[in-house]
Amino acid sequence: MSIVLRKFQESDIPYKVKWINDEENNKFLHYDLPLREDKTLEWFRSVQNRTDRIDYTVLYNDEPAGLIGLINIDHKNKKAEYYICLGGKRFKGKGIAYIASDILIRDSFERFGLNKIYLYTEIDNVQAQSLFEKIGFVKEGLLKSDLLYYDRVIDRYVYGLNVPSFVNGSLKRIKSNNLITTPIYELNQRINSNILYIKRDDLIPFSFGGNKARKAFLFFEDIKKENADCVVTYGSSSSNHCRVISNIAAAKELPCYIISPTEDNSPTYNSMMIELFGAKVIQCPVSEVNVTIDKLISELKTQGHNPYFIQGGGHGNIGTQAYVNAYQEILDYEKSKEVYFDYIFFAAGTGTTQAGLICAKVMNNDDRNIVGISIARKKPYGGQVVLDSVNSYLKSVGRDSISLKHITFVDDYVVDGYGTYNKDILRTTKEVLIRDGIPMDPTYTGKAYWGMKEYIMKNKIINKNILFIHTGGAPLFFDGLGDLMNVR
Ligand SMILES: *Cc1c(COP(=O)(O)O)cnc(C)c1O
Repeated sequence: MSIVLRKFQESDIPYKVKWINDEENNKFLHYDLPLREDKTLEWFRSVQNRTDRIDYTVLYNDEPAGLIGLINIDHKNKKAEYYICLGGKRFKGKGIAYIASDILIRDSFERFGLNKIYLYTEIDNVQAQSLFEKIGFVKEGLLKSDLLYYDRVIDRYVYGLNVPSFVNGSLKRIKSNNLITTPIYELNQRINSNILYIKRDDLIPFSFGGNKARKAFLFFEDIKKENADCVVTYGSSSSNHCRVISNIAAAKELPCYIISPTEDNSPTYNSMMIELFGAKVIQCPVSEVNVTIDKLISELKTQGHNPYFIQGGGHGNIGTQAYVNAYQEILDYEKSKEVYFDYIFFAAGTGTTQAGLICAKVMNNDDRNIVGISIARKKPYGGQVVLDSVNSYLKSVGRDSISLKHITFVDDYVVDGYGTYNKDILRTTKEVLIRDGIPMDPTYTGKAYWGMKEYIMKNKIINKNILFIHTGGAPLFFDGLGDLMNVR
């Protein structure tokens, strides 16, 4: 089901006229009836450019389903009056009003920085009141003899809603769906007098954890919702993503297909586990990955299956959501410990982790540095992919897009590309293992941790609180352990 708010336009007038003249609908509205099209057109022309109101048509699966908006917008006191009217019985009881209101309230915060939204409702309109209360409006008072409508004296309630706390609260609601909160704590080492903290997403308690597990949980919620009966994804033989997906699929007894490029097929601990989980691995040259995926999916469909496709690395809005959630955990930690992280560093691959953190930062109006240390991709491509993910997610929650200058994607530490590393990375990794007891692999977290250190020195960052997110990859740590033993 899709619910979208579109600015009220001339072609919506016949709908409005029909809905307002409908007696069922009109019971608690206070229009002079019958409403006429020509008068409504006049009204529309007169309000179009006003800054004290905004009118939307609610589209339900692309069909006009009602009206919603804000009137009496008071820019000085940052408040406005809310109204909603659905276009008849068949749109009721579907959650349309609830979702449309949610979009409108977030939009009012984004667009006008509103602090308060209020509404009036007849005391007899009990059904509407239960909707308003569900949204989060609070009854503030009773207004006696508030309206006169055809000689009827009407008492009304006034309801109010605090917009900033609504917006914050809805971020929390997303988080409560999600049962993992990983620990954050201070490290023994400091760099340039900066205090270093770490968030241990490698300790997520499934399949060696990591950011791929955090994303995978949300994908499998969606798989359940979609009633899919098999999973298709892709990645190389060292893919943490493919390990986690094939592990959860095996646990749920769902067939799992993995498309894997022949170019990177040397066995690793991850590829061994993928085999152990019984995933069907289909190899092809990297240039044929897309056609192979399309072919497999259409074959599965022809056989009567309902396959679910996950992009490599858990890329996409659902993956982004996973790190919007992680950001909320970081905020909760900061609040409880009264610290503030000036910087957040982590390994950036497909950029989904970074996209989630940046989206949450934007939605919270925070001002801090979110620095992705690229482990493979170079600019401008790498940063552009992060930006596209950010804007795709922001659009899905009804927010304005941002530009490339808001994205710090650092490509100075990729060495010679994916999976390559140098002695400095190994030395740094060894020190973290010895001093703090934390394993980091040389492809992702070890490389990013080293890159963070170099970045801090190069940019002369001092006296800050810095958070590093450990994004997992334990099996790759063991792949690289031989090299770690030999480094001096
Ligand atoms: C995939 C991966 C990353 C990169 O995450 P993206 O969201 O793709 O940028 C970082 N660390 C580890 C251990 C990973 O497996």
